[in-house]
Amino acid sequence: MSIQVFGLPVSRGVAIGRAVLVASSRIDVAHYFIDAARVDAEIERLRMARDEVAAELSLLQRDLPSDAPAELSALLDVHLMLLHDEVLANATKHWVRERHYNAEWAVSAQLEVLARQFDEMEDDYLRERKADMEQVTERLLRALARGDGGSVSHPAAPRDFGGEDPLVLVASDIAPADMLQFRRSVFTGFVTDVGGKTSHTAIVARSMDIPAVVGAREASRLIRQDDWVVIDGDSGVVIVDPSPIVLEEYRFRQRQSELERARLDRLRHTPAVTLDGEAVDMLANIELPSDAAAAVDAGAVGVGLFRTEFLFMNRAPGDLPGEDEQYEAYREAVLGMKGLPVTIRTVDIGADKPIERMSVSELRHEHVLNPALGLRAIRWSLAEPAMFRQQLRAILRASAHGKVRMLIPMVAHLSEIRQTFESIARAKQQLTEAGKPFVDVEVGAMIEVPAAALMLKRFLHYFDFVSIGTNDLIQYTLAIDRADEHVSHLYDPWHPAVLRLVADSVAQANAMGKHVSVCGEMAGDVAFTELMLAMGLRSLSMHPAQIASVKQRVLRADTRRLAASLETVLNADDPMAAAQTAFRRADGAPPSTALGAATLQ
Ligand code: PEP
Ligand code: MG
Repeated sequence: MSIQVFGLPVSRGVAIGRAVLVASSRIDVAHYFIDAARVDAEIERLRMARDEVAAELSLLQRDLPSDAPAELSALLDVHLMLLHDEVLANATKHWVRERHYNAEWAVSAQLEVLARQFDEMEDDYLRERKADMEQVTERLLRALARGDGGSVSHPAAPRDFGGEDPLVLVASDIAPADMLQFRRSVFTGFVTDVGGKTSHTAIVARSMDIPAVVGAREASRLIRQDDWVVIDGDSGVVIVDPSPIVLEEYRFRQRQSELERARLDRLRHTPAVTLDGEAVDMLANIELPSDAAAAVDAGAVGVGLFRTEFLFMNRAPGDLPGEDEQYEAYREAVLGMKGLPVTIRTVDIGADKPIERMSVSELRHEHVLNPALGLRAIRWSLAEPAMFRQQLRAILRASAHGKVRMLIPMVAHLSEIRQTFESIARAKQQLTEAGKPFVDVEVGAMIEVPAAALMLKRFLHYFDFVSIGTNDLIQYTLAIDRADEHVSHLYDPWHPAVLRLVADSVAQANAMGKHVSVCGEMAGDVAFTELMLAMGLRSLSMHPAQIASVKQRVLRADTRRLAASLETVLNADDPMAAAQTAFRRADGAPPSTALGAATLQ
């Protein structure tokens, strides 16, 4: 029977595929298809891993001290029994033989099936055996990782289905760091139970340009392994086991959006100039140095935001990237942009981007009180002065290879600004003493805390430019956790207070002749393009995949006409409705929105 699950649309388009359910803790397990010719070798890897775990368990049992509780030995017996049980052994082989999953994926796929069966058991004792099954599969996964031939055969080409059904990922939650691994994975879309529209998981999904729905609460419980699923990333609906008619309708929409993308693609290298001759810089937001290629390809005229914190994630505990490693990464991004400017933001660690691999639900279980209000971004950097100077030196050194600008996240206090500039001066002095070349880069502030917007005039005495981070500005103005699906209906980018702060910041920066940009998700949402132009913005930074559609709106805009309606929109009780009327284009198309849809629900 077909069912529908509702969540928050975070990345546009339609994905149709078979569900792969993955527990949050196993997202980092490699998922890839193997060649038919490798099936036997992969099954052999499974057998070897099983033998290794069996030997490990027998050894443990043999070496148990005489005073060890009797239950321990009985437990090891249960684990050995589960290891050889055919619901694990044979069924895992089935995923490899029939679906061509790699061994690790086959083990975790079968665990998901079994975990669900355990959950549904009436008998308490049997239900609790789920934990044992998890421990056994954990040992299997570790044995596979120790053996050879695993990730070696990881395919270079992403999303190559080799004639298989396309797959979509269903998980309770995905940590932003794990999202990056998706870029090399086989999934064409994903659904999570938790998360908000501008959570960093959603942002990475948007950067990958794959349809995604988050905050779908019960999705990972209602969807079963292998179900056919339609993910409608435009409306936030997930359809499980769709009827043939519904499926055909979505396939039609899929084709339409592919055609639309192909059409927009032609705008890639058209300069973004409005009807009245105003040039608008279309910049890219990137997470990794290798993203520079996609930015250039999409027609970006520079990087407006390089989120360097992703270099600090997915690493062993305590292993932070040193100065040289960071320098190499920044240089790669600078060279990748082929002479175009790159704005490198100092790390924004904290809140929903902890250094340790942790998803939002894990963070919630850690009971970290208000992490978004805690030691985050520049606060974290200033609390780690040696690490901060390492990063500053690495950024400064990259400036010897192209145009680099430095961006400081989440400044709120003048004292933070002074300390930041002291650190920069010290980093420069250290480089000079070491004889390492660098250029005097421009330093900018992210405006993402209301205090910074209200203090902008004074902040601008220190900074060369500003970039407005609307994701956090909305979060902190409205006191809405951007990663929490329970309050996502209140996360409203159209709120008059938010718009007033953005408009005043732009006006202030323009009045002082300082460059101002927006790099939050609003910049890439076409529903806000006319409003941003009306406010006087001439620089927008977004995911490369969003550039063409925003540029299309820019090309059709007349900034003088838009500016004339700005105050009407800002003073309206319902600015979205007012913008729809005031900015209605000649062709009558109203602003439609991915972010702004929150207010429509
Ligand atoms: C923002 O807050 O708008 C922003 C661009 O920074 P991030 O999303 O990385 O917090
Ligand atoms: Mg931010």
